[in-house]
Amino acid sequence: MNIHEYQAKQLLAKFGVPVSKGIACQTADAVGKAFTDLGEPLGVVKVQIHAGGRGKAGGVKLVRSADEAKKVASGLFGKALVTHQTGPEGRVVKTIYVEAGSDIAREMYLAVVMDRGAQAPVIIAAAEGGMDIEELAAHKPQAIARHRVHPVKGVQGFQLRALTKHLGLSGEQAKAGSKLIQSLVTAFMALDCSLAEINPMIVTKQGEVKALDAKMSFDDNALFRHKDVMECRDINEEDPKEVEAKKFDLNYIALTGNIACLVNGAGLAMATMDVIQLKGGMPANFLDVGGGANKTQVTNAFKILLSDKNVKGILVNIFGGIMKCDTIAEGVIAAAREVKLSVPLVVRLEGTNVDLGRKLLQDSGLNLQTASSLDEAAEKIVKAIA
Ligand code: GDP
Ligand code: MG
Repeated sequence: MNIHEYQAKQLLAKFGVPVSKGIACQTADAVGKAFTDLGEPLGVVKVQIHAGGRGKAGGVKLVRSADEAKKVASGLFGKALVTHQTGPEGRVVKTIYVEAGSDIAREMYLAVVMDRGAQAPVIIAAAEGGMDIEELAAHKPQAIARHRVHPVKGVQGFQLRALTKHLGLSGEQAKAGSKLIQSLVTAFMALDCSLAEINPMIVTKQGEVKALDAKMSFDDNALFRHKDVMECRDINEEDPKEVEAKKFDLNYIALTGNIACLVNGAGLAMATMDVIQLKGGMPANFLDVGGGANKTQVTNAFKILLSDKNVKGILVNIFGGIMKCDTIAEGVIAAAREVKLSVPLVVRLEGTNVDLGRKLLQDSGLNLQTASSLDEAAEKIVKAIA
């Protein structure tokens, strides 16, 4: 799960990461008032969407009066902001964060990310931060320092010294930088993050070190133990099909192809997507209905698949183990009737009660094709939509 910048800053502040004061707003009037309430000569109007690259896309603006803040905000609210991370459709702006402006002397990059290769969180730091970190990674990788965080001992003194040196910090600023890094790592561990990124981390002209931007992503499997993080969920930022799927405990991820897949088991779902591509098709989604799905889940899964306008055909590939093939067949039939299926459907069943399942499908009178192998099923669906 991802959260907004202002929410990440609120969480990080609790762990001691220094941030500017700010106010999240839902209307342009509120933005004007927030500027006044902050009482600073410089304010920053920041669009809150779950995507980076806002600065370059015009979603971060410096303002010097309440009127200007309000005017800038009215030009942003309700519009879709397109950044290099949003895709061409962009993200509609519903929240704007107004922050007290900082006098920036220098921008740096700091992040903690779960690194599967290192089997631990890794701290990543660069003295040249700001908006072009991807460029830096591509053209000057030696400028990026990486330190593995020991899962039990945490970040150690020698690492903090190396990191602050790499960031070009000395004296009081190195102390403040150390504390910031330490706080970020503590927050990352305590909140079960997969990513905590500060880009930029800045030194101000007054010599303060602080987080000017913040992005946090969390491990969904650990969210149950973080009520405060869960409360930050913004379903406006999620794919509505994925939101619906979560309600029914379905593992669904929307993709850009046109062949919808309904599969049980993540491994089988991946293999199904591969074989579809091998046969010249493109999967419209990843959908794992789980090992013990019931009829209702299958019906709801079908509805979610069909709500995607790009879907031109459906491939059901189920291995009946705990879940029996006849249960799946009943679910498929019920769903196809309920949603008045209008696209080609290919069903491949294998496993427990497969004969009963196939018979139910054949006798259903529905316009569907069956297949006995995955190869055959993928070929049939690709052909059917051609
Ligand atoms: P992003 O583009 O989505 O990553 O948004 P950021 O929050 O990182 O802001 C983008 C850029 O706006 C930063 O790199 C800064 O250069 C600039 N910026 C943001 N806040 C301030 C501020 O308080 N003062 C000044 N002078 N610039 C700011
Ligand atoms: Mg940024």
